[in-house]
Order: sequence, then C-alpha cells, then structure tokens
Amino acid sequence: MGRTNVIFELCESCGFDAVSIAQRLNLVGLAGSECHAQGEALQELVIRPNADAIADSFYDSVAGIEEFSNFVTASSDAERLRDTQKRYILGLGVGFDTRRYFEERLRIGSVHQRIGVPQSLYQCSYQALQYLLIQNIPQRLRSDDSAFEKMIQFILKIAALDMSLAVESYCVAKTISLEKSLKNVRGERARLHHLAVTDWLTELHNHSFSRQFLAEALIRAKVEGSPLCVIMADLDHFKVINDTHGHLVGDHVLRIAAARMMSGARDGDQIARYGGEEFLFILPDTDINAGRDVAERLRQHIKSDAIQSGDEQIRVSLSLGAAETREFDTVDTLIARADAALYEAKRAGRDCVCLEEKE
Ligand code: GH3
Ligand code: MG
Ligand code: MG
Repeated sequence: MGRTNVIFELCESCGFDAVSIAQRLNLVGLAGSECHAQGEALQELVIRPNADAIADSFYDSVAGIEEFSNFVTASSDAERLRDTQKRYILGLGVGFDTRRYFEERLRIGSVHQRIGVPQSLYQCSYQALQYLLIQNIPQRLRSDDSAFEKMIQFILKIAALDMSLAVESYCVAKTISLEKSLKNVRGERARLHHLAVTDWLTELHNHSFSRQFLAEALIRAKVEGSPLCVIMADLDHFKVINDTHGHLVGDHVLRIAAARMMSGARDGDQIARYGGEEFLFILPDTDINAGRDVAERLRQHIKSDAIQSGDEQIRVSLSLGAAETREFDTVDTLIARADAALYEAKRAGRDCVCLEEKE
C-alpha cells in the first residue's frame, strides 16, 4: 500500500522542516529523549486523570476575561471551545518533535488571527493553563523535589514551545492578510488611476492627462534640445452623423475612429480625446515635417474604410493642424497654434492637413 503524503501547510508557510523543528526544540530546552518521557508523565500523571476538571477550569478562567466575551457569544461556541481546549490539553507534549505537533500548534495562531482574537488574549490566558497544570501535579510527585521540579520545568517548556508556535503563525497569517489587502489597495489604486486618465468612451487618454503629459514632454524637449510636435485633429461634419444616425451611432463612430488612430500611431506617440470629436496627438522627438507625414497618414487611415454600424456604412474624415514647439512655448501657446492650423484645415475644405504659420 502506498503512503499518503500529508501536507503540513502551516509548517510550510512558517518554514518548519526537520532542521528548524530541531532548532526550535533546542531553543526551548526540549531536545533529548528524556523530554519525551516527561511528556508521557505529564499526560499520565497530571492531565489524563484530571482532563475534564483542567479543561473546565481553564475555560472558566478564560471566560472571565471581558474581551473574550466578544468572541464567544452562542452557547454552542462555548461548548465547542471547551471541547477544543480539552483536546488541546490531551495532546500537550505528546509527540512534540513531529511536524504534526507543530502543524496543530501553528494552526492555533492562524485560526486566532483569522477570527480576530487578539494575540494578547491568547498569551495572557496561557499562564492560567500553566498554573492549573502545576496545581494538578499529584502529591507523590511533589514529595520528590527533583521529580516535581522536572515536571514544572517541562510544563513551562512545552508551554513556551506551544506559545512560540502560535505567535509565529499568528504573525505569518497577519502578514499574509496584510499582503492581500495591500494587493487589493494597489489594484484599486491602479483602477482609479486608469479611470482618472482615461476617456470613458474611446479608452484613449483624456483631456487632463494629455495636458499634463504635454507639460512634461515640453520640459523634456527643452532639456534635451529635441523637437516636439503636436497635432490637433477634428472629425469633419460630425454633427451630421449624429443628426442622421443618432447619438449612439455617433458614439460608435467615435470609438472606431479612436481605435484607428491608435492603430495608426507610432510607439511613443500619445493620443488623447481632447474634446467631443477632437483629438490631440503629442509626438515627442518629431519635427514639423515628420509631424505632417504622421498627420497625413492618419488622415488617410481614418477615411480608408467606411465604418459599419448595423446595415449602415458611415464615411468619416479628419481635419488636422500641426505645430512644433518653439523656445518660449507653454502648453497653451503650442496647442493654440495647432488649433489655428486645424481651423485653417477646416477653412480649406476639411479632410486635409495644415501646418502652423511660420515664425
Ligand atoms: P466640423 O467639420 O466643423 O468640425 O463640423 P462638426 O459637425 O464636426 O462640428 P460641430 O462642432 O458643429 O459638432 C460637433 C458634434 O459632435 C456635436 C456634438 O453633439 C458631437 N459630439 C460631441 N461629443 C460627442 C459624443 O461623445 N458622442 C456623440 N455621439 N457626439 C458627440
Ligand atoms: Mg468636427
Ligand atoms: Mg469640434
């Protein structure tokens, strides 16, 4: 028969393998085979004969803590907790050098973290259990000073081991839950950022982002002494499209036209929906001649095919005006010259590219 491979998930996440288990036992003074004999004696002489009484007293001492009542409300909760505590003390010190023992102890911290029990509550109530165990050491052990002391020491050591494991898994669980919230916050921040910079209809960048981008691009161009070109583009007779086919079809046309602009753009160029049917192209490292070529290609690309909307074929065209940055340009002066060039293109009959006036 094949062996089942048990996965000790908390041992994994807290990094407990054979080596670190041995290190931890060493740290609390539980290395050596005589400790196992002590564990057996603890169960046989102290716990098993008094399990119910110890579990009840432990429960009563914990139930007396005010904060505790926040976590145990229903009587079924209380019953379950009493059972859990009894099972817990019946396992105390039994096979403490195994991964299973570590896994069970680690589970205590991780469960407490998950249900929101403060770590301090667990830590502070633990002394009550130690005291109860010591109280239940039978008289015949007490009369032997050395055996009595060994038993007390074992109780303190096994308590230290259990508590250290619960604290460790509590912290790991807390870290995992903080990492999760951080991931959520980051995701939400990215979503909000996207909303803040994106035009809802076309998914192009929006007006305010394009101005901010242009302001930064202007500074870069000045610092690097490189050219920068902007193109202002406006769909021709768009009102007619709306009037003829309706606003929803107009929206569809805007989306398709925007997608064509995106597909026709070069890497590094920025495109934004600047207004209703108006678009701003920011072309870093591009002079006015190269800008004119980009604009001309865009013009042809937009009108290349009619836009399909239901059974209708809608033809669109674009007028464009281009301007290159000058020494004292601001966002407003540069855009104003591109706008004036666009106006010229409209005046010239639309569906064409005009450049700014020469200096
Ligand atoms: P021109 O060639 O001179 O630019 O003429 P035009 O009709 O395109 O320009 P005009 O400024 O007269 O009209 C622009 C139209 O664009 C009017 C407006 O309702 C429409 N529009 C603006 N934003 C949207 C939008 O988000 N969706 C739709 N469907 N239409 C829009
Ligand atoms: Mg228009
Ligand atoms: Mg317009």
